[in-house]
Amino acid sequence: MSKNVLIIGAGGVGNVVVKKCAMNPQFFDEIHLASRTVAKCEALRQEIGERITSVHAVDADDAAQVAAVIRKVNPDLVVNVALPYQDLPIMDACLETGVDYLDTANYEPKDVAKFEYSWQWAYQERYKEKGVMALLGSGFDPGVTNVYTAYAAKHYFDEIHTLDIVDCNGGDHGQAFATNFNPEINIREITQRGRYWENGEWKETEPLSVREDLDYPGVGVRASYLMYHEELESLVKHFPTLKRARFWMTFGEAYLTHLRVLEGIGMTSIEPIDFQGQKIVPLEFLKAVLPDPGSLSIGYVGKTSIGVHITGIKDGKPKQVFIWNNCDHHECHLEVGAQAVSYTTGVPAMIGASLILDGAWKGAGVWNMEQFDPDPFMARLNDHGLPWNVIEDDSPIRFQNG
Ligand code: NDP
Repeated sequence: MSKNVLIIGAGGVGNVVVKKCAMNPQFFDEIHLASRTVAKCEALRQEIGERITSVHAVDADDAAQVAAVIRKVNPDLVVNVALPYQDLPIMDACLETGVDYLDTANYEPKDVAKFEYSWQWAYQERYKEKGVMALLGSGFDPGVTNVYTAYAAKHYFDEIHTLDIVDCNGGDHGQAFATNFNPEINIREITQRGRYWENGEWKETEPLSVREDLDYPGVGVRASYLMYHEELESLVKHFPTLKRARFWMTFGEAYLTHLRVLEGIGMTSIEPIDFQGQKIVPLEFLKAVLPDPGSLSIGYVGKTSIGVHITGIKDGKPKQVFIWNNCDHHECHLEVGAQAVSYTTGVPAMIGASLILDGAWKGAGVWNMEQFDPDPFMARLNDHGLPWNVIEDDSPIRFQNG
């Protein structure tokens, strides 16, 4: 069986996916790479050589262009690590050509910052009819956090009742202000209203207004803020016993101060404004002046600590489990020239791809990560750079406010 992959996107995450696929010829034969700026693909080919079979310029906003590249290279799977705006045209191209699809972030329309699976779930019947599969959100969060949840539900509980996903970047890149993945996507995500699931309904909070000081293994105590994150939507759907599901992310004071100022003066807005006779989007302009996340890895020190804290019942008794990974920025730099946020996204994308190509995860239709057997994915996390830990009947994560 051939195991050829077309990777779309040659940014921070694309760099990791390409290199991890290249390191694993047991899973991947041909590796084709396409992106908007073909020079970035060429640079990667220069760096890692003939393991990249071919490179292509593509505007993935245009499904016809993506379909043309797919026809040229004939892959078994398309891995989309461009931006969420391109999810639908790439899904359209995969549908048209009958090729499986994987991404790491849910579709967002460019003109409204909205995070929901409705647009991609709407492909369910068409993918089933065509006999192709789409695996949504195979990064860390979403991605590994969904698989951790499925693993806990399978091995430790009869029923899960509460889920808290806790995401800490305890690293220091030495820049005054920078984001760890695409700045436009990142700032759209963290400036939206908070949202969590409780007793069968979504509850909303003002952006970054709910705080807990949480003790992250490998990092220590960090201020953590309740945010909405896309995996909550699929997890409450696929684990209907969940009474509450929340997502927390750490931010330092300096980061929040910069963000408040940028928001206050309108620099994070996605409404186009007139500037010297042309329309510009302030957030797109801000992206252009901020450091490229892919360039942050040199001198980046410290670790990420991301996990899931779950409570529920087993054999009629209350139970709690915490599963997490620590990832060291400098070690990622040494291995693949990336910081840990790109690394923790790129490795799960490679693993999801390997499971689809193996046939371990397969089925026509549109899937979220937690719908498949978590065990092979968890095994490959340990083998490919993201080993995980589990604590049963105790947890370092303690909420002061419940
Ligand atoms: P970057 O901005 O570094 O890279 C994006 C890449 O996509 C660039 O190479 C860019 O090209 C390319 N691209 C953008 N638009 C197009 C287009 N129209 N056609 C073709 N290529 C295009 O982003 P990251 O690598 O940081 O992020 C990649 C993805 O990973 C994003 O969707 C992000 O949301 C997701 N992500 C997921 C996480 C998770 O845990 N699930 C965590 C972090 C990120 P160019 O070089 O020309 O700009």
